[in-house]
Order: sequence, then C-alpha cells, then structure tokens
Amino acid sequence: MLGGELLGAYCLSEPAGGSDAAALTTRAVRDGDTYVIDGTKAWITHAHDADFFNVFARTGGPGPGGISCLLVDANTPGIVPQAPERTMGLHASPISQIAFDGVRVPADRLVGEEGTGFGIAMRALDSGRLGIAACAVGLAQAALDYAVGYAREREQFGTPIIDFQGLGFMLADMATQISAARALTLHAARLRDRGRPYSTEAAKAKLFATDMAMKVTTDAVQVLGGYGYVADHPVERYMREAKVLQIVEGTNQIQRLVISRSLSKS
Ligand SMILES: Cc1cc2nc3c(=O)[nH]c(=O)nc-3n(C[C@H](O)[C@H](O)[C@H](O)COP(=O)(O)OP(=O)(O)OC[C@H]3O[C@@H](n4cnc5c(N)ncnc54)[C@H](O)[C@@H]3O)c2cc1C
Repeated sequence: MLGGELLGAYCLSEPAGGSDAAALTTRAVRDGDTYVIDGTKAWITHAHDADFFNVFARTGGPGPGGISCLLVDANTPGIVPQAPERTMGLHASPISQIAFDGVRVPADRLVGEEGTGFGIAMRALDSGRLGIAACAVGLAQAALDYAVGYAREREQFGTPIIDFQGLGFMLADMATQISAARALTLHAARLRDRGRPYSTEAAKAKLFATDMAMKVTTDAVQVLGGYGYVADHPVERYMREAKVLQIVEGTNQIQRLVISRSLSKS
C-alpha cells in the first residue's frame, strides 16, 4: 500500500444509515476457522478498484461493542460491487454499494479483537477528517487563486472588477477564512504528529474548513458572474466538489456532535 501498488477501501456505511454507524447490520458469523459475511455496504469509495476491503461487521450483540473489523481480499467469492452512483462531483473517484453474500474470510483476518471494530473505525475517521480538512483548504485556495486572477483581468465600467470594493472585500474575506482553516488544520495535524489527543481538534478543523470551502467556492462562482456558472472555468466544479466534503468522514452535523460531546465531558 505504501508503495502505491495496492488500493484499500473502507466499508462502514450501509444503505439504512451512515451517521449512526453503531447500528450497522452487516453480520460476520464465525464458522470454524472462517467468518462468513452477509450484508450490504453503501457509498464505498474504490468499490470496483480496491484490492482489499476493511469491512466493519456485527459479530456480537447490538451497539458499538458488537462490531468487529475484518480485512477482506477483493477477489473473495460473494463480493458483488453494484453499479457506480451518479454523483454531483468527485467523478474521478467512483463510489458504489457492495453486496457481501456469504463471503468467507479466514479468521486470522480479524483486525484487533472481536468487538473492537467500532473503535478502529472511529480512529480511522479521526485521521480521515484531517485529510478532508486539508482537501477543503486546498480546494478553497484554488478557487480563490482563480477568482483573483479573473478579477484582475475582467473589466466592467472601464475598471478591473477587483477594484470594486464590494468584490475586493469578498476576496479579502475568502483569503482570511482560508488562512484560518489552514491554521486549524495544521494545529490538529501537529497534535496527531506529537501523539497527543486530537479527535476534537480534527472535528473542528473538518467542520470549519469544509463549511469555509463551500462558502469560498460559491463566492468564487459569484466573482466570475455568468462565466462562473459554465464548465469552461473550473470554479463550478470546485463548488460541486466542496459540497461532498461537508458530508464525508461524518457529516458536519456529526462533527458538531463530537465537539459538543467533548464540551459536555470536560
Ligand atoms: C462521495 C462519498 C464517498 C463516501 N465514501 C465512503 C466510504 O468509502 N466508506 C464508507 O463507509 N462511507 C462512505 N461514504 C458515506 C458517508 O460517510 C455517509 O454518506 C455519511 O456518513 C452520512 O451518512 P448518510 O448518507 O447515511 O446520511 P444520514 O446518516 O442518513 O444523515 C442524513 C442527514 O441527517 C443528519 N443527521 C444524522 N444524524 C444526526 C444527528 N444525530 N444530529 C444531527 N443531524 C444528524 C446528517 O448530518 C445528514 O444531514 C461516502 C459518501 C459519499 C457521498
């Protein structure tokens, strides 16, 4: 994987729910020295291209304590990726449901102990949230750079539009919000690098950076006027890509839940 030769996929979400992951219903039943997995996973990135899947499945009773994590080779019989979803953006990263129909996995492919899968899933999401925050900062920076370049060139009323205060202030706000999101993201990443607790800070960075990216990319479309709305310029795509960042790795409502729970504990 580190050499870029193997691709993995993360299979937590299901058709009936993503936010309430602890309620997942895919089952892995122990049968001798194998587990047999049955169920359907939803929205799986790399579903068709992955070499293996990290599958979170129920090996015990209800709730988070009944969930385990299994490493499953993609060519195992019974794994059936469904047709790719027709998404608003992220067209270079197809997603689809995967049906697991009597998929037999050697018992030594259990990651950690039985019943510890939910914690593994949540730790992966903590890390993933840093990645999504970084994506949001980069996406917003690209939108700002493009909008500034355009606003310097485009003239109306005989003046470059960047010199109209209404537009210049909008660009100033965009630049400021990006700097703030970058700082939050780096702060959370540095905590992780130092081995310090970073879960709440990662949630804050993901929440702030992705809401910021949605606003900044929408404003970038506005700066270009009608030209912002057509595919000849990249900003309409940036706006569509920003939307998904508010949804993946836990929606921004779930980030608020994580942050507010940390406040109620302290
Ligand atoms: C492009 C893309 C790629 C993805 N890749 C993967 C992947 O590789 N692996 C994977 O496992 N999943 C993946 N997902 C799934 C993603 O994690 C879920 O879509 C997400 O967690 C939300 O779950 P849901 O879609 O079921 O929405 P729901 O959980 O049904 O939520 C619907 C709405 O209700 C809100 N809501 C839910 N609960 C609460 C609450 N307690 N308080 C306030 N509001 C609440 C949500 O914020 C949302 O606005 C992907 C999704 C997309 C769109």
